[in-house]
Amino acid sequence: MPRSLMPRDPGPALSVAVVGGGIGGLTAALALNAAGHAVTIVERRTGFSEVGAGLQLSPNASRVLADLGLAAALRRAGSEPPGVVVRALDSGRKIGGVTLGAAARDAFGAPYYVIHRADLQTLLLDAVRSRPGIRLLMGREVTGLTETEDCVTLALESGNGARSESLSADLVVGADGLRSRIRGHLDPRGLSQAGMAAWRAIVPREAVPEALAGEATGLWLGRGRHVVHYPIHAGRDLNVVAVVPERQGDEDWGRLGEPAVLRAQFRDCAPDLAELLTVPDSWLVWSLADRPVARPIARGRVALLGDAAHPVLPFLAQGAALAIEDCAILAQCLAAQPVVEALDAYARARRRRVRRVQRAARANGRTYHTGGITAFVRDAVMRRLGPDGMRERYAWLYGWTPDA
Ligand SMILES: Cc1cc2nc3c(=O)[nH]c(=O)nc-3n(C[C@H](O)[C@H](O)[C@H](O)COP(=O)(O)OP(=O)(O)OC[C@H]3O[C@@H](n4cnc5c(N)ncnc54)[C@H](O)[C@@H]3O)c2cc1C
Repeated sequence: MPRSLMPRDPGPALSVAVVGGGIGGLTAALALNAAGHAVTIVERRTGFSEVGAGLQLSPNASRVLADLGLAAALRRAGSEPPGVVVRALDSGRKIGGVTLGAAARDAFGAPYYVIHRADLQTLLLDAVRSRPGIRLLMGREVTGLTETEDCVTLALESGNGARSESLSADLVVGADGLRSRIRGHLDPRGLSQAGMAAWRAIVPREAVPEALAGEATGLWLGRGRHVVHYPIHAGRDLNVVAVVPERQGDEDWGRLGEPAVLRAQFRDCAPDLAELLTVPDSWLVWSLADRPVARPIARGRVALLGDAAHPVLPFLAQGAALAIEDCAILAQCLAAQPVVEALDAYARARRRRVRRVQRAARANGRTYHTGGITAFVRDAVMRRLGPDGMRERYAWLYGWTPDA
């Protein structure tokens, strides 16, 4: 008989099982616990080691984390780039820019940070561990879900299937990422490969070519590929991401890439960029995958959030940001009504927003990677708008608040 880990407590606060301890799952636990609910996070990994990569955390997300009491921790761990400098990948010619820093903070009421993923995870975990109302079950994989009228029961396995347990809760939040098992309960549609891969590396600041060593985020656009870089670790390192075409996708979340393969793809690029891309002697590679927004995002006593609900291609840097937004709205909906109605309201509240962001990210990818006359038009629009105009173009995205 499976051992029951959490007898259901029908008191005023809900018992919530969150599947997945990524950025979405940890934030969900904090938001739901702050609203008075008892949360259990179930994570299949046995420890928290985050991959070496950076993350841009736009104001729509940093404001939610600040509301959860993490403003000071974020200020310590993140930095605010003054802006983005956009250049042509082949010639190095400056195309345009986006003003960020204090101007973004003033315009959108919260900072635009860049941060190392491990630093963000650490500050979320520290907060989770400091809350007695949140329990973390590590090394447990959710292998099944049964829903009845008044509870949901998860089947858990650990030790490679050697041990079985069950966990019942008033509701389940599937924050189990791109290849979510919980999503299958609501929407069977699978993933499709995007035909692109993101190569990521961290370069020590002293190895960065002088021309690229400033505080700004760099964005290099070329036909079929682009590169983004920004300082992390208080400027001690540079996070570099190169997105290139890929014929055959791979399911691995972060496999090793051969540096010579990447260098060959950028043989014709501007000298400063070419020099930067020769520095890393190891790269982590992600095959990019896409999937429609789940239909529905929530039903009955099961809700999805983050990549499980709506993966976003990384051309707008919004995957984690949207997961964080989801958490604020989910907690808000649960505060106002019974579970089933609350999850229905959550699904309706999120659908339009996440579809818009998903579409905008795809469109940005096409704009980044275009060539010929459309690249000419893109560059002209960027020049006409100027860096402040470019920032205001994203007011709908960065200016989002949970109360809107
Ligand atoms: C190249 C690249 C660059 C990006 N840059 C940005 C950026 O700058 N800004 C931004 O906002 N986003 C960015 N993203 C997106 C962002 O990384 C993701 O959207 C975000 O991490 C998703 O978080 P999540 O919590 O939904 O899922 P995940 O981080 O994938 O977490 C899911 C968790 O669930 C666990 N799990 C899975 N299945 C089970 C199971 N059956 N039982 C128990 N546990 C399970 C997993 O072990 C994992 O810990 C980028 C993505 C890529 C690929």
